[in-house]
Amino acid sequence: MNITEAKKALQNAKKIAVLTGAGMSTESGLPDFRSINGIYKTLTTALTFHITMFRIYPKRFYSVIGPFYGQCVSAEPNTGHLALAELERQGKHVEIATQNVDCLHQKAGSSIVHEIHGTIDTVSCRKCRKRFKASDFAEFFAAGNVPHCPKCGKVLKPDLTFFGEALPSEPMRKAKLAFLDADLVMILGTSLQVSPANTLPGYRVKGTPMFIINHDPTQYDEYADFVSHEKIGEILPELVN
Ligand SMILES: [Zn+2]
Repeated sequence: MNITEAKKALQNAKKIAVLTGAGMSTESGLPDFRSINGIYKTLTTALTFHITMFRIYPKRFYSVIGPFYGQCVSAEPNTGHLALAELERQGKHVEIATQNVDCLHQKAGSSIVHEIHGTIDTVSCRKCRKRFKASDFAEFFAAGNVPHCPKCGKVLKPDLTFFGEALPSEPMRKAKLAFLDADLVMILGTSLQVSPANTLPGYRVKGTPMFIINHDPTQYDEYADFVSHEKIGEILPELVN
């Protein structure tokens, strides 16, 4: 498909399933966790995001996550996020499965977002399981201090999925159904190397058009009907409007 044909296919689609990854948010100035200039290289190592490390030494996590949290909270959705929200305003049913934890799809106005890797928006108590808005503990994050549960006093953990921790099952279950039910699927800003998100394209019904927009080529490019390695924030508005 060329871009004109892709635009036409998108116009005809009624139920769209979308998978988004870090590339979606780097255009909003947020660091990519895994790339060369990603957060592991510049801010910390992946070990900080390991659940065992967090259990033993939560201070290490909070002392380095502060700047990232601040960045996420103040980040604004980019033209790519806004284009996805626009599809909903056009009357389409759009479900977004995202590997991002930054809430930028919600900020852009998208209403159905399945957060496969959790979210930075809330924190939960490791003991009593009570959940709180992360913004209520902003000063702890900013100062690199460990926030504690107002109910029982135990350490609060961000609801983003750490290494060594099981993914929340419900978002992935809903994402699979969305891909199964879609009449068009889009893969945006992910190189499709991380499981289980990279299994989602496989759930689409045979013959369902698939668009891939990602900086680098992916293993699924040859199966896609439309592929672009341009910026999402430039290509997507062109397809949508
Ligand atoms: Zn508690």
